[in-house]
Amino acid sequence: MANLQPVRGTHDLVGEEMRRHRQVVETARATAGLYGFQEIATPIFEFTEVFKRTLGDTSDIVTKEMYSFADNSGENITLRPENTAGVARAVISGGLAQHAPLKFFYAGPMFRYERPQKGRYRQFHQIGVELIGVAEPLADIETIAAGARILDALGVLGRTTLEINTLGDGDSRAAYRAVLVDYLRGNQAGLSEDSRKRLDRNPLRVLDSKDEGDRTIVAGAPLFTDHLNQGSQDFFAAVCDGLSLLGIAYVRNPRLVRGLDYYCHTAFEFTTGDLGAQSAVMAGGRYDGLIAQMGGPEIPGVGWAAGIERLGMLLTEAPQALRPVAVVPVGVAAEQPALSLAEDLRRAGLAVELGYRGNLSKRMKAANKAKARAAILIGEDELKRAVATVRDLDTGEQAEVPLTALHDHLARFR
Ligand code: ATP
Ligand code: MG
Repeated sequence: MANLQPVRGTHDLVGEEMRRHRQVVETARATAGLYGFQEIATPIFEFTEVFKRTLGDTSDIVTKEMYSFADNSGENITLRPENTAGVARAVISGGLAQHAPLKFFYAGPMFRYERPQKGRYRQFHQIGVELIGVAEPLADIETIAAGARILDALGVLGRTTLEINTLGDGDSRAAYRAVLVDYLRGNQAGLSEDSRKRLDRNPLRVLDSKDEGDRTIVAGAPLFTDHLNQGSQDFFAAVCDGLSLLGIAYVRNPRLVRGLDYYCHTAFEFTTGDLGAQSAVMAGGRYDGLIAQMGGPEIPGVGWAAGIERLGMLLTEAPQALRPVAVVPVGVAAEQPALSLAEDLRRAGLAVELGYRGNLSKRMKAANKAKARAAILIGEDELKRAVATVRDLDTGEQAEVPLTALHDHLARFR
């Protein structure tokens, strides 16, 4: 018999954890809607090539973290580690670029083979937005604002810091890349093996390294900010001004980078000190070259993704389950009328638990366990007189109510 444990790094969403998850998704969906982001759901798997082309052959995700397999017809398939690649693929294969600007919101599971720990899983979930087809800084500002608004609506904005940086345009990046490679070559002996490999193909990634030795060297590296041309400086200034105008607090972090060539201009991350070793909550930036690099049209984009589990853990108060009223038949003869009554009340918009079995005390226990706000008791005697006994389970108050007046009487338990 197979091992009936969940696969390492996966977890079931049940009870409070599911409610936290749903709170994050529903709040994000509603808030993103206010900004005009339309929901999209792309497949959970894509051809492996889709991720290789977008994430780059040297990224951690592609080299170590992907769940890839050959399907029965030998196609190379990968469970999506993130959703920007899938959205970009959808834009290309669906010919959607002609309808730009495109604004997408998504929520769903992602898969990465990582070392599981608190806030880090192999199947986890993300919400995210992509704004495709607008090259101007207003798009960056609104994308970040939507993220901040979602964190605010969840009550966690105050527990995060928005860090922001610019990677400049292509020319600035080429100029910076040259001085960075010079510097890193001069310090090659102290670099990790991974970083030495990245020197040629992907030197910016070295700035991102989590290796201690690399970090020491990186701390002395020349800064991107000192190699930005005027256009890039103006773009960044416009983004920063927009955030200030909207009252969104940020700190500049010149060390915040993304390793791939199609990233440009804005890079940002909402971080927190409240999740132990995991500090990244929401991360994003501008990716103007991505869709063209995948073989699609030349069309710019900006977006972010946030971990639902990490956001759920940050919620200070766990959302409560809906409190129902309980319809409790007293004796078997009252069960069918109780069944009908429960259905009537639900049709009127009340959440209703039905006492399914046992004597009165058992059924009342079940009502309390369901955290019912009120119990509606009906027995043979009540039925004859067309009344029900309504007991407020919080106060203990009890009243006999004619069935015809029941809806009105229960309004306060909605
Ligand atoms: P980290 O530095 O924590 O590995 P990352 O840079 O890999 O994060 P992104 O790829 O930018 O993360 O994904 C965006 C967000 O998704 C992260 O900020 C985080 O909230 C969440 N996230 C990423 N990987 C995981 C994971 N394995 N488990 C849970 N949440 C994750
Ligand atoms: Mg990671």
